[in-house]
Amino acid sequence: MTQATETHTSRSTAATFTGLKCKECGSEYEAKAIHVCENCFGPLEVAYDYAQIRRTVTRESIQAGPNSIWRYRSFLPVDSESPIDVGTGMTPLLQANRLARRLGIKRLFIKNDAVNMPTLSFKDRVVSVALTRARELGFSTVSCASTGNLANSTAAIAAHAGLDCCVFIPSDLEAGKVLGTLIYSPTVMAVHGNYDQVNRLCSEVANTHGWGFVNINLRPYYSEGSKTLGYEVAEQLGWQLPDHIVAPLASGSLFTKIYKGFQEFVKVGLVDEKPVRFSGAQAEGCSPIAKAFEEGRDFIQPVKPNTIAKSIAIGNPADGVYALDIARKTNGNIESVNDQEIIEGIKLLAETEGIFTETAGGTTIAVLKSWSKRANQPR
Ligand SMILES: *Cc1c(COP(=O)(O)O)cnc(C)c1O
Repeated sequence: MTQATETHTSRSTAATFTGLKCKECGSEYEAKAIHVCENCFGPLEVAYDYAQIRRTVTRESIQAGPNSIWRYRSFLPVDSESPIDVGTGMTPLLQANRLARRLGIKRLFIKNDAVNMPTLSFKDRVVSVALTRARELGFSTVSCASTGNLANSTAAIAAHAGLDCCVFIPSDLEAGKVLGTLIYSPTVMAVHGNYDQVNRLCSEVANTHGWGFVNINLRPYYSEGSKTLGYEVAEQLGWQLPDHIVAPLASGSLFTKIYKGFQEFVKVGLVDEKPVRFSGAQAEGCSPIAKAFEEGRDFIQPVKPNTIAKSIAIGNPADGVYALDIARKTNGNIESVNDQEIIEGIKLLAETEGIFTETAGGTTIAVLKSWSKRANQPR
């Protein structure tokens, strides 16, 4: 099997990231394939030299970059002058007037990652970054634990980059999602169990084969890819932040990274500071973060998922407590909707805007709809 043979720790002068830092205790580490703090078991996050970014990055320099997430390369944890660019990102931000009217919302935009490249989901962002970093770290086999979309994306982008790929999925995934992975000919391990069990298995396997698991030992790099959705929203709104973000929550990573992305843009002077409310959507059959929010708890009680929204069915969300904190301190809200409402959400978005998403999109629209029923205002 393949092994990570070399570990680059020296960086090109273009690199702006300085290493990894524990989100809990602040311990610092080299930018290797590690994700847990040795001192306190907290999650590791990528740290940057923002003074350098502030000196070198402007709106114009970003706009002169590629029409993909790599226009934000200075904010991403890669050394390479030639990242894996399969056209990921810069998806449309559509003003959704017909849907807004139906919901009684004044101005509403849809960030349509259902047309992301190459596998039509948000996951292409995180995987493009994770595999670029995996290649830099010397991995020749990449892997993941997935609820479907991540497996599709990892298999596709690994194929493009010529990396070997082995994905682990729950054996009861939708056939369409499984086909969307198999077509790229990775090794697929279908595990009897739910995503959380698959993930636990992978955590044990991760350090035995010398593979790069995008959402385990490469998780600090992987999750940074989510920031690009936030950067794009700010750029597409004409370099300003929105009033309110509503996003689907699985592990809570996307949600927390949009927040981090906005803060970074403010910090380096690309946008003006402004309070942004952060609200989240979950499926009732897997809503540990929404439940903790509702009950005023600051810890997450893991659940066994039972919902059609499989792409966001994570019962033990790694970034759940951070998502809770952000929703609370920005005066946002986190709510759940049932499977019937999710189906209606998918239909409503399709009928009003011509956008046909999978269940995560339906969940988000259904939560918006339930708020609009309560006088257009989340509490
Ligand atoms: C993975 C995923 C999300 C968000 O997942 P997080 O783990 O919270 O980052 C949202 N929507 C879709 C379609 C996804 O596949």
